[in-house]
Amino acid sequence: MRTARPPTRRAILAAPLLAAPLLAAPALRAAARGGTVVVVGAGSAGLAAAALLREAGQSFTLLEARDRIGGRAFTDRSLGPDCPFDAGAEYIHWAERNPWAPIARAAGVRFASEDGWARTLTIDDRAATEAEQAARRAGFSGLDALLAPKGGDPSLAEAARAGGPNAEQAAAGLSRLSLGEDPERVSAVDYDRLWSGTDLWVDGYGDLVARHFADLPVRLACPVEVIDWSGPAVRVGTARGALSAAAVIVTVPVGVLKSGALRFTPGLPDLQQAALDGLHMGAYTKIGLRLDPGKIDPAAFGDAVSVATGGPTLYFEMGPFGRPLAVANLGGDGARDLCRAGEAAAVAHATERLGAILGAQARGAVLAGRLAGWWTDPQALGSYSIVAPGHAEARDTLRAPMGGRVFLAGEALAGGGAMTVGGATLDGERAARDVLKALGA
Ligand SMILES: Cc1cc2nc3c(=O)[nH]c(=O)nc-3n(C[C@H](O)[C@H](O)[C@H](O)COP(=O)(O)OP(=O)(O)OC[C@H]3O[C@@H](n4cnc5c(N)ncnc54)[C@H](O)[C@@H]3O)c2cc1C
Repeated sequence: MRTARPPTRRAILAAPLLAAPLLAAPALRAAARGGTVVVVGAGSAGLAAAALLREAGQSFTLLEARDRIGGRAFTDRSLGPDCPFDAGAEYIHWAERNPWAPIARAAGVRFASEDGWARTLTIDDRAATEAEQAARRAGFSGLDALLAPKGGDPSLAEAARAGGPNAEQAAAGLSRLSLGEDPERVSAVDYDRLWSGTDLWVDGYGDLVARHFADLPVRLACPVEVIDWSGPAVRVGTARGALSAAAVIVTVPVGVLKSGALRFTPGLPDLQQAALDGLHMGAYTKIGLRLDPGKIDPAAFGDAVSVATGGPTLYFEMGPFGRPLAVANLGGDGARDLCRAGEAAAVAHATERLGAILGAQARGAVLAGRLAGWWTDPQALGSYSIVAPGHAEARDTLRAPMGGRVFLAGEALAGGGAMTVGGATLDGERAARDVLKALGA
């Protein structure tokens, strides 16, 4: 997640990840002896689950719909091999406890430091006045205390209301540019549970994830269509044939689960369905613009926030890691609209806004653009999971296994680590341990 204010999250202690207490049914044990575990989805959660199963000597098959691994951790090179940018995850959040921090250090990847505040704020086509900048800073100061739950489970928008218009605006900015969702749709209790700590900005988080798991066997371009768990063994139907499994770990994003693109037979039990109903996907979106360094040096300007009346607020990362790039970040319904409008429209919009910040010459410096439109990506259908107000228990509830043989996992189930690669990784490992326990391994 990207955030436009320091610190990214409140320092709250993690609720321990729930380990599902489970005893394997005799029929399941029998099926497991010669059986295998199918892991659906080769993002951070599925990869971590498969790696743990391999370490435990458990046979497994890892199935992935895309033609690559990593899921929402993906370093995009479509703007040129010398101009990679992370279309999805780019920060190792809460680095003090995140398993990716030591992995990244051992791999020698580059980190960039971030001071947390954009250096430039523009409103429509002009630089913000001192008074406007002061109002913005005032909105953020004290916001954490306002958003902290005081009973019930209001939305972030409701929680901020008592702080007046500056606080409401700050909460909206935080919600869209950190969670990818409008503040009316975010549970304040869930937000409060998210882990906080140091954020490390990684040069190539997607590459790091893909490299770390490169030696895991995986069947690519193999979308799973149906999971039939009506019998003692599970039948996993894919576009390329069916497999039988003793147990299945399903790590597809909540957006895919809700879309019905992957069906369960029988359907989800009431408990899991109710939990899923309380979750939805945000629309955190990036638009990468490749710039002509002969015409403009984005790094000279510093990161920028561009506010437009009646349009989405864009946060521009200028020249990340010294590259001739500007990456626009946005979230909420404004981002959904741009994803639906398509890449050409989104790139034109971001270019227009860049011009408002850097001057008209910047528009002529844009050589190419890329929309990382997760909202319309069929294998994600959104950026990451959001808990709706009043559904604060949804993440924990989804971890209950179905029939002792179907286990859901991924960032959405990661408690305080939700919405992150680190959380997905820990939750994938949690699911693998639950499966091993269930199989009596
Ligand atoms: C724009 C953006 C910015 C982000 N920024 C950060 C950040 O800075 N730091 C951070 O830690 N996190 C960030 N995140 C969140 C992070 O990327 C995710 O939380 C994490 O990658 C999710 O991992 P996962 O394994 O749960 O899901 P995924 O990575 O989505 O993996 C699920 C896999 O299932 C596959 N799949 C889908 N349908 C099927 C099917 N039918 N059959 C088989 N496979 C299927 C998908 O292709 C995918 O590979 C960001 C996400 C986005 C979108």
